[in-house]
Amino acid sequence: MNLHEYQGKQILKTFGIGIQEGIVAESPEKAVEAAKELTKTTGTNWWVIKAQVHAGGRGKGGGVKLAKSLEEVMERATNIIGMNLVTPQTGPQGKKVHKVLIAQDVYYPGESKTAEFYVSVLLNRQTGKNIIMYSTEGGMDIEEVAEKTPHLIFKEEVDPAVGLQGFQARRVAFNLGLSGNAFKEMTKFIANLYKAYDSIDASLFEINPVLKTSDNKIIAVDAKVNMDDNALYRHPNIAELRDILEEDPTEVEAGKHDLNYVKLDGNVGCMVNGAGLAMATMDMIKLSGGEPANFCDVGGTANAARVEQAFRIILSDPNVKAILVNIFGGIVRCDRVAQGIVDAYKNIGTIPVPIIVRLQGTNAAEGKKIIDDSGLKVYSAIQLKEAAELVNQVLTK
Ligand code: GDP
Ligand code: MN
Repeated sequence: MNLHEYQGKQILKTFGIGIQEGIVAESPEKAVEAAKELTKTTGTNWWVIKAQVHAGGRGKGGGVKLAKSLEEVMERATNIIGMNLVTPQTGPQGKKVHKVLIAQDVYYPGESKTAEFYVSVLLNRQTGKNIIMYSTEGGMDIEEVAEKTPHLIFKEEVDPAVGLQGFQARRVAFNLGLSGNAFKEMTKFIANLYKAYDSIDASLFEINPVLKTSDNKIIAVDAKVNMDDNALYRHPNIAELRDILEEDPTEVEAGKHDLNYVKLDGNVGCMVNGAGLAMATMDMIKLSGGEPANFCDVGGTANAARVEQAFRIILSDPNVKAILVNIFGGIVRCDRVAQGIVDAYKNIGTIPVPIIVRLQGTNAAEGKKIIDDSGLKVYSAIQLKEAAELVNQVLTK
């Protein structure tokens, strides 16, 4: 699960980190009210209108705009709310903007004493340690910095068993070229950011840019947070921050039925029990000349109701030209799965694409017979190779 910038910043604030203050708004009128409120609390006379979508690079796509008057706040909020924002991270189809953050302007034009840094904390799965990744080149596309000037990106590995050490936070501040008060502020910022990342079980906490103001304060101007979903149950207050408008509607629907479904952009839908088998099945689809349209793990209980739900979800994707069902009958018997498929098929009525069912394991032969005798437009196979050939046949027909 991902969080919005405004949600990430509120979390940072509870950990004692200075942020660019802001108020979220869902209409231009509310945006103006928010701007007035911010003037009361922060004294700002300029505001930044920031699209709240789960994608970075908003500035580049026109989703971050400065407003120098309340009229401009109204105008910019009107333009941004409802817009289809296309950034390097959204893909060409873009993302619809449902709300904006009205933030205080924290940049003072013409001042040379400000600086923008990049700081993130994330998990290094290879070493099983957390990494603080940071750079003097903040405010820019960090992927581009990594490609063109990799020596400007620094890393500090933190052993989760001992936590962040004081000397490590000081090394970060030193490498960022800071001294005096800014140095002290940065060591606090790093310690608190690490604490925030660790305490909420995030898998990524990225602040780009981190701003050093002319009066040597260190503040978070942006916040990107990815949560470790397996630990979300420990943070019900963060789980509540989920914004399903930002997620793929088919995946949300699948989640309601406890199906592990990830939409992909190919033409062969697949329904499999077990994640490993699902990965192998996707490889097989590629070998047979197709492209997987989805990853779908129905789990251990492939009964009629679940199979039916999975069919409906897979079929809601108009790109699907064939469906491959690949079930290994270990705990679940193949004849029961086969009956489930036949029942689900009948319940749905007409399924417009060919279905190839490969059943292997307990009672595989009985399962195949049920499929073959059903009179439905379903092809059966026991060997993986046969199933791949069938997929190839129906695609090239
Ligand atoms: P992103 O493009 O999605 O990463 O969104 P950011 O929150 O990082 O904002 C993009 C850019 O907008 C920043 O790199 C800044 O250059 C600019 N920006 C953000 N806040 C302010 C502000 O308070 N004043 C001004 N003038 N520019 C800002
Ligand atoms: Mn940013």
